[in-house]
Formats: sequence, C-alpha cells, structure tokens
Amino acid sequence: MRPRYVLALVKHETNTFSPIATPLASFGHGEGPAFGPEVVGRYRNTATPLAAYIDLALSRNAEIVTPVAAESWPSNACSRATFETLVRPIEDAVHAGCDAVFLDLHGAMVVDDCDDAEGEIVRRIRAIAPRIPIAVSLDYHTNLSGELVDHATVIAGYKTYPHVDMAETGRLAGSILLRALDGEIEPVMAWGSRPMLASIMRHAPEDGPSGEIVAMARAAEAGGRVLAATWLPSFPHADTPHTAVSAVVVADARRGGRGAAREVCDRMLDLAWRRRAGFDHHAPPLAESVARARTLGLANPGAPVLLIDHCDNCGSGGAQDAMKVVAEILAQELDGVAIAPIRDPVAVETMVAAGVGQRVRLALGGRTDMPAIGLSGRPLGIEGTVARITDGEFTVTGPMYTGIRMTMGRTAVLDTGRAKIVVTSRPHEPFDLGVFTHAGIDPRAQRYLMLKSRIHYRAGFGPIAAHIVECAGEGVTNADLSVYRYRKLTRPIHPLDAV
Ligand SMILES: [Zn+2]
Repeated sequence: MRPRYVLALVKHETNTFSPIATPLASFGHGEGPAFGPEVVGRYRNTATPLAAYIDLALSRNAEIVTPVAAESWPSNACSRATFETLVRPIEDAVHAGCDAVFLDLHGAMVVDDCDDAEGEIVRRIRAIAPRIPIAVSLDYHTNLSGELVDHATVIAGYKTYPHVDMAETGRLAGSILLRALDGEIEPVMAWGSRPMLASIMRHAPEDGPSGEIVAMARAAEAGGRVLAATWLPSFPHADTPHTAVSAVVVADARRGGRGAAREVCDRMLDLAWRRRAGFDHHAPPLAESVARARTLGLANPGAPVLLIDHCDNCGSGGAQDAMKVVAEILAQELDGVAIAPIRDPVAVETMVAAGVGQRVRLALGGRTDMPAIGLSGRPLGIEGTVARITDGEFTVTGPMYTGIRMTMGRTAVLDTGRAKIVVTSRPHEPFDLGVFTHAGIDPRAQRYLMLKSRIHYRAGFGPIAAHIVECAGEGVTNADLSVYRYRKLTRPIHPLDAV
C-alpha cells in the first residue's frame, strides 16, 4: 500500500501594528492561495519547506495530497473567514485518511480572534487524527506556543536570516518524521521561552548573539545527541501573550533524548538571556546615517553603498510608502541613487498615463496612516521623468526564494536626475536584484542603493555592496520597540521593562 501524506502551507507573519489588511487574495505572492493538485506545480523545485516535503514524499512513492498552499506578505491579522478558507481543506484532507501530515507554517500568524493561529491549526488536525504524526517547519521569526509543541510531533525552524535554509529546514523536519514512521526513532520535544524580545535588526547570526546560539544548535545536531535544535528569536511586532524568544529541540526518546532535548534547549535559552543586551537596537539619527552613506559613496568604493530603510519594511508588515529616508537622501543631494521599491499604485497610474519619457510632478508615497504608532502618512512632492514602465514581474535568481515568480504589480521608474525610484503597485521586499534589473537598472552600476528592507536584502544585495548603512526612518517595523503600544504582551519583558 502506498502511504498517503498530507502536505500543506499556511504562512503569515502578522504585524498587529500594521496598517495593511490581509484579505484572502493576498495569500500567494500575488496569485492568491493555491488549492489541490496545482500546489505541487507551483512549489516543486522551489527553495521552500513545502518543496522539500514534496521531494521526501516522492522518494517514498507516497500519494501526495496538497489541500492548500497560502503565503502572504506580512500585514495585520487576517479574518476568521479567511483563516477558515485556508484551514478547512487541511481538515478535510486529514479527515479523508492519511499516514502523516507535513506543515510549512510561519509561527507568528494571528487571526482577528486567535493570537496563535499555528497552535490552532495543529490542535484541529490532532482532534481529527489523535495519533497522526505531524511535522512542522517554522520561520526564524516565530513566537512559539505550548499548544503548537503539544500537538506537533516534530518541529524544526530556520537557522538563517536571510532565510536561505527554508528547504533544508523542511528536509530536516520531514526526514525526522519519516524515520519515526519507519519505527526507527521516537521523537520527543522540549521547548521553553524567556521574558525577552529581540529587535529584528539584531536577529541575524552575524549581528548579535544569535550567531553563538545557532552555532550551539548546529553543534548539538552534528554531535548526534539531538535530531533538531531550533532557536527562535521572536517576532516582536505581533502583540500576543506568547510573544517572546524561545527554543525547541527534538530528540530520540529511545536514546536518552528527553534529557538531551531539555538540556540543549535550556543551554540555548540561558545563553540568550545572558546576552540579552546584545539584542537591543540603538539607531543613530537619520540625518547622520545618510551623511555617513554620502561620504562613503563619494570615496568611490567601486561598488554600491546600501542605505537600508528598515522601519517601513513590507517584509514585516510595513506600508512601504513612508518617505522619510527618501526625503533625507534627496535633501542631502546624494547622486547616482537607485531606490526600490516605493509602493504607490496611484503614482504608478499617473506615470503610466503620462507615458515613458514624459515629465511628471507627483505626491509620492505617504498614502498610509499608521494609527497603531500614532503616525499619519506624508507624501513627498517630487518631479522627474518616467523612465520605464513594467509589469513588475521577475523570477528570483538569488539564494532566497530561488525560482519563485515575484509579482509587484504594474511598476514605473521615476528618474529625478540624481535618483531612479522604482514605484510598484503591490508590496515587495527587495531581496533579489530582479527588483532593479527587471526595470533595466543595473544595481551594480549605482553609487547608492536605497532598499526598503531589514535583513533579507543581504540575500541578493550583500554580495554586491561596498558598504551598508542602516537608516532609521519611520513605520511599523521600527526597531525601537518603545514606539509600540503593546496590550497583550506578557509583562514584565526585556527590553521594555526591568526584568
Ligand atoms: Zn522570518
């Protein structure tokens, strides 16, 4: 008998301070969610956990059931109705009978009436099939809950940021589950958390204490004492009672795994706690950062200087139209700048109507109010020539999301003389050079590149950068956690309170 495996992807990083809504259509990189057999065609051979699950299932000659694959850019909580549309097909597939479930989840998804969407998904599957083995892969930016650990069989999360080990993580979680199905091992998990938030600008292994913690996790896995060790530095922009740094470790109960899992988990968390000050972010004033970038560029380093507008990153729920950093770049007269992307469908329409080569005067960006952090949108008055109009589509060639087709919507390039600004209709975080090259801009040939991103830009742009300068603008992905009015967070918590 061929085994029957249910493979599903439901992913959303919910920024509960975000002004951006999350309708059903937003799941699926612009194409909407995928249901049924079309999932395999869309995801096979992509660098994702789901693709790894598909490969593992094929290696077992399993019948593959793919009820849903749905992934949205980060934004505010989705509605109960949207969530049910995504989760019920998984329930139906499990109900029809299967031998195992492989889930590609995020770990920071919030529904308008549920703070722990992943916990609910796994609990509901477990209610239908109490003994079914369930593997879960998680994003690095997870707020782990006891409910998710209680109902899953195996959990593994990304160890990289930018997340270039998505497929590897799926392979790890999935292969542990397959070994359990073979009766070779008996997975057991230990998890824990600490009362602290880690600023996302300090999450990357090369920036803060995460490097040491991830190295500890890798060493524990390589040494064979545990099967999977995962450090989860939290997603501090989701205001929930379980938002905090955490860790989860899988080991083999038959080989003394229970104690080993607990010990490795506690060691990672204790190290994080001791190093907690290293996760706090301190940003210099914007004008100072832009001036520093300007000086670095004027020294002709032979490669672009990156200016990272990290407070308004759509990859974490930002509106992607806050203009504070762009305004400062123009005010300080940086020359030879390419900027991507500013989301402003109205400006795109104006440029399309004017046509390539025409002069236009725009009130660019600043269309989104951010009431959760007390900010109003402020457009930037700007003049330039329409340099290019595109369909906003490209296939990723860089190391993150390799092979995935990106859909930024109708896109136009405004050339002000000093700056070329890529203006898109849909949100997109620039982690691949395609955001520029698809519009005829060679990013390597620019003196400066301004990117609305926090860390993921490093996947594509890190290798071509001479220098990187973080620029603290404004928005709902501000690294200064004191701008957020938390209501549900469990207090006291570092760094907001004395703990
Ligand atoms: Zn992430």
